[in-house]
Amino acid sequence: MAADTESGAPLLLLRAVGKTFSNGVKALADVDLTIREGDFLSLVGPSGCGKSTALRIIAGLSMPTSGTLQWHKILGDDRVGFVFQEPTLLPWASVFDNVWLPLRLRGVSRRQADHAVRMMLERVHLAGFEHAVPRELSGGMKMRVSIARALVTKPRVLLMDEPFAALDEITRFKLNDDLLELWQEERFTAVFVTHSVFESVFLSNRIVVMAARPGRVHKELAVTAPYPRSEAFRTSADYAALCRRASGMLAEAIDAGTRR
Ligand code: ADP
Ligand code: MG
Repeated sequence: MAADTESGAPLLLLRAVGKTFSNGVKALADVDLTIREGDFLSLVGPSGCGKSTALRIIAGLSMPTSGTLQWHKILGDDRVGFVFQEPTLLPWASVFDNVWLPLRLRGVSRRQADHAVRMMLERVHLAGFEHAVPRELSGGMKMRVSIARALVTKPRVLLMDEPFAALDEITRFKLNDDLLELWQEERFTAVFVTHSVFESVFLSNRIVVMAARPGRVHKELAVTAPYPRSEAFRTSADYAALCRRASGMLAEAIDAGTRR
């Protein structure tokens, strides 16, 4: 477990990864990044710097136009789970059926999936909501369903693209706490995109700051505070100092993108 910033063995290597879209937009250029087992790695950077593009490439939803992606272990179909900014739930289906969906697509029956789905709902604190439909849930609860759905197949890497951006601050803090707890229990590797340096410092052991035009890695910041992290960390002087450093790097990255 990545209880400290010393993270584990390399899991995924991006080497000189570039992505130029057919319309000529250079979304990423020369991205070198090693994601280690057990990392909680955040990607922060100005809008348009290629964060979503990088996640989609890692997920295999998009191919790089240059460079290579190298997985260190063959992890099969279930290597990644994806959580988008919108919970993207099936509106007519129950919470249970929404979480069952990825298993169902793999041919797992409702009865076979029952235990795994209920366990996952318990893990995201939604036990008892199996029969609810999305419109009956708050934004935070919908996001919990989305996380449960992404984790029900036990992926090794959980990719999250600004998952809490639309939530109010109190809900977001609670989801941050619960996500860290889940990460420590389930031991997946997390790659988390956020606009918020505060959120990235609270969650991550590594913050990768990206710059735009073209999208690239600007700098990396290690967050050495130990886990578990709680309210005490969020209100500590260490946390405030790290947030200042991360904000400074982000300001530099924005500047580096506009000077091109
Ligand atoms: P971020 O998530 O950091 O805001 P994106 O990865 O969404 O950035 O986008 C990076 C750049 O690539 C932007 O300039 C965006 O307009 C462009 N882009 C993203 N997807 C496409 C696409 N499918 N076709 C053309 N350009 C795209
Ligand atoms: Mg994006």
